[in-house]
Amino acid sequence: MMEDEKNLNFIEQIVEKDLQEGKNGGRIQTRFPPEPNGYLHIGHVKAICMDFGIAEKFGGVCNLRFDDTNPVKEDTEYVDSIQQDIQWLGFQWGKVFYASDYFDKLYDLAIRFIKEGKAYVDEQSAEEIARQKGTPTEPGIASPYRDRPVEENLRLFQAMQNGEIEDGKMVLRAKIDMANPNMHFRDPIMYRIITTHPHHRTGRRWNVYPMYDFAHGQSDYFEGVTHSICTLEFVVHRPLYDYFIDQFADSDYRPHQYEFNRLNITYTVMSKRKMLQLVKEGLVAGWDDPRMPTVCGLRRRGYTAEAIREFINKIGYTKVEGMIDLGLLEHTIRENLKETAPRVCAIFDPVKLVLTNYPENQSETIVAYNIDGHEELGTREMTLARELYIERGDFMENADKNFFRLSPGGREVRLKNAYIIQATGCEKDAEGNITTVYATYDPDSKSGTEGGNRKTKSTINWVECGSCIEAEVRLYDRLFAVENPSAEEGDFRDLLNPDSLHVQTCKLEGALRKEMHKPEVVNGIAQCNHYQLLKQGYFVVDPDTTEEKLVLNRTASLKDNWQK
Ligand code: ATP
Ligand code: MG
Repeated sequence: MMEDEKNLNFIEQIVEKDLQEGKNGGRIQTRFPPEPNGYLHIGHVKAICMDFGIAEKFGGVCNLRFDDTNPVKEDTEYVDSIQQDIQWLGFQWGKVFYASDYFDKLYDLAIRFIKEGKAYVDEQSAEEIARQKGTPTEPGIASPYRDRPVEENLRLFQAMQNGEIEDGKMVLRAKIDMANPNMHFRDPIMYRIITTHPHHRTGRRWNVYPMYDFAHGQSDYFEGVTHSICTLEFVVHRPLYDYFIDQFADSDYRPHQYEFNRLNITYTVMSKRKMLQLVKEGLVAGWDDPRMPTVCGLRRRGYTAEAIREFINKIGYTKVEGMIDLGLLEHTIRENLKETAPRVCAIFDPVKLVLTNYPENQSETIVAYNIDGHEELGTREMTLARELYIERGDFMENADKNFFRLSPGGREVRLKNAYIIQATGCEKDAEGNITTVYATYDPDSKSGTEGGNRKTKSTINWVECGSCIEAEVRLYDRLFAVENPSAEEGDFRDLLNPDSLHVQTCKLEGALRKEMHKPEVVNGIAQCNHYQLLKQGYFVVDPDTTEEKLVLNRTASLKDNWQK
């Protein structure tokens, strides 16, 4: 193999070894198995990069399998969004499968288990069954229904499926070993009754639905998966995964399960259940709220697919659980946008600046580089005239010598890409607030001319009053106030950061009017333009933008606290 391909994670090393040993006839098949009960989050992306990455690297195939065994929580809305997000991330599956495709096969398999004395119908409540599970050191207690005759089990299981039994009144359990040190072997539930909700694909056809453990391994086997990769919490399920397959497999082929550490990120939650709660209760604006760790939320926030994949690449895969600093994710998007996002002037707290020696009714065009020093990234035009907006903080009426920006009678300051100016005074309202700053400009100091080389201690941003445009800016901060909301006691919703969104307006260069408009939607995905608003951060145009109102989301501030 070539040198750059050698940078393999521990599961890829296993795959490479399996290939060298000729296992599975040289076939590599993985799957990404989301349950369509929510939108994908960045934790899922870690799994996606692993599953699809292996197929890409080793010339195999990765299929998409919807693990749709619980109609209560699943919906086609989620099926669609999951497919969109995977494609947006830049991956392509081989085939699309659904666990529900196997409901007939799994049902037949359950019947076979019953006939072979390997499964029984239990009439105890979920609580009672949980109570009898025992502990890792104490064996469990056998259900009084454990030794029902086969005929009775068959009749009852069919009654369950026929809709004759109420939800929760009976389950089908595997008859394995109530004393097994692995608790998952203590007669795990194979099937439960769900009649309350139709299934998004099979409708009302089924009244019994297989549990994860009875569906996942079998699905892998039916499809011919070679490497079934999941997260570490499934290590303890692996023996059961193997057991169920061993009971019916009619060849030597076996899918094998491998596990890696989940992705957890500080100041957020990585659970669809909790995210759904935030969405349903209106605590965020939706699954794609830019504060959410969902793929669609990150996208709306201005994260690129490239940056998200780069982040996953940076954190890598191990066999120990941990927590990743949110700062690393932010660092990655800054590094990504730094090279490409045009840098434009935006004034967040404007005060008017009048250039008293600039002729009225005159204006001129200033050509600015999108990124200074990068001609290849193009230029844009700014309009300069007598009245401008600058940041209020760039002027101080009575400043000491350590203030390098505008102050009356003070030093020379350069207007970004334009002239050198000197403040002469200001005007205030009755409350003493400064309403206008006055300055003179030096016509021989224009950037790009000979006089443009004259140095000043500082450069300030500006936009021209007549041509500038207004935008609503949404400044986002971390969603939660505490580092690890999942580790805290009590209600996670009480830990939300009350200041996670600040909305205000700003004034932007008028030339942006042409390019900042409602993002075009291609295949359901808004095509976003990224900008660096000088001194303010990276921003992206939000789909809430209308003809009347431009809306920008702050992707990340400029300050990077990330330490390697
Ligand atoms: P959640 O707890 O958010 O509902 P889940 O594990 O139930 O997540 P699934 O739809 O079953 O969600 O997950 C599909 C795949 O994504 C699984 O293989 C799962 O292991 C993986 N996955 C889910 N969350 C993470 C995470 N935080 N880090 C890495 N992989 C994850
Ligand atoms: Mg799951």
